Amino acid sequence: MRISPLVKSFQPYKVLEGDYRIWLDKNENPFDLPPEIKEEIFEELRKTPFNRYPHITSMPLREAIAEFYGVSPENVAVGNGGDELLSYLMRIFDGEYVVTTPPTFGMYYFYAKLDGIPIVEVPLDENFIMNGDKIAEKAEKASLVFITSPNNPTGNTQPREEIIKVLDTGVPVVLDEAYAEFSGESYVDLIDEYDNLIILRTFSKAFSLAGARVGYFLASEEIVDALYRIKSPFSLNALTMVTAKVMLRHYDVVMEKVNYIIKERERIYREFKDYAYPSEANFILMKLNAYEFLLEKGIVVRKLGGRLEGYIRVTVGRREENDELIAALKEFVEGIK
Ligand code: PMP
Repeated sequence: MRISPLVKSFQPYKVLEGDYRIWLDKNENPFDLPPEIKEEIFEELRKTPFNRYPHITSMPLREAIAEFYGVSPENVAVGNGGDELLSYLMRIFDGEYVVTTPPTFGMYYFYAKLDGIPIVEVPLDENFIMNGDKIAEKAEKASLVFITSPNNPTGNTQPREEIIKVLDTGVPVVLDEAYAEFSGESYVDLIDEYDNLIILRTFSKAFSLAGARVGYFLASEEIVDALYRIKSPFSLNALTMVTAKVMLRHYDVVMEKVNYIIKERERIYREFKDYAYPSEANFILMKLNAYEFLLEKGIVVRKLGGRLEGYIRVTVGRREENDELIAALKEFVEGIK
């Protein structure tokens, strides 16, 4: 048996073993769904036939999302997490390479490598802002450009005028807005104007559904049609589809939690202004080499590398979790003074 060298060049997933109390490492929502919403989901699940395959193009959920945004279901694609959609978007367009703007989300690299697609990097500047002109220079031969706003792991949004410079070249652009609900800023309105724009969203963050695995994108009919020619037919399961549909009816609850998280984010940021970057997401980038220190205290955050070696990314948790994080980080900062 010979495992391909490409496959071997990937690292196995690491599961962090240990007795940790506070998980602030995956940008999850710290709030599970309220019991009454869970009951509503269970009611819907009772009516759902488990023996049948789900709708082959996920139409019931696409219709619900389309209604939420006031667009046509033909402009909506849904997948098993935003990640699955990224893996397909990578393959839809013709070109020599994809463009990324590091430091940014690792899954763009993961799927490009898996598909043998070269990556051209146009790094963000020292304030983590993109350069639309430099990306536009690379656009002609690119199959796709990835822009992330708010960016993971830096937390900042990207300026509308820079995004437009890239869109104006006609190159397909994935504008990854996984964290948009926490920024109050979205570029969804641009889909009316640009048929090369793909707005990627997820139910994993603001909607508290990371465990259900559901993401979607809004784009032109041509792009959505292309996606449904190659997407694994039943990858979005019937249980998830029902769950996401129920959550769309409770946007008020979603936004209540989002507002709580934003308040907490600003509280943490104020405490560590000298080390933290302003964020418009549900996490904060900090120039503090505190990963191991926090782990010792039972708090798990994300350790970063490369250009962000020595930095951590901290997900905003519940108030009492954040209290513990703040206390631990204050102790760490005292120690390095
Ligand atoms: N884009 C970005 C920038 C993300 O951080 C994430 C989640 N980590 C995703 C997309 C995809 O999330 P999911 O697959 O859970 O929908």
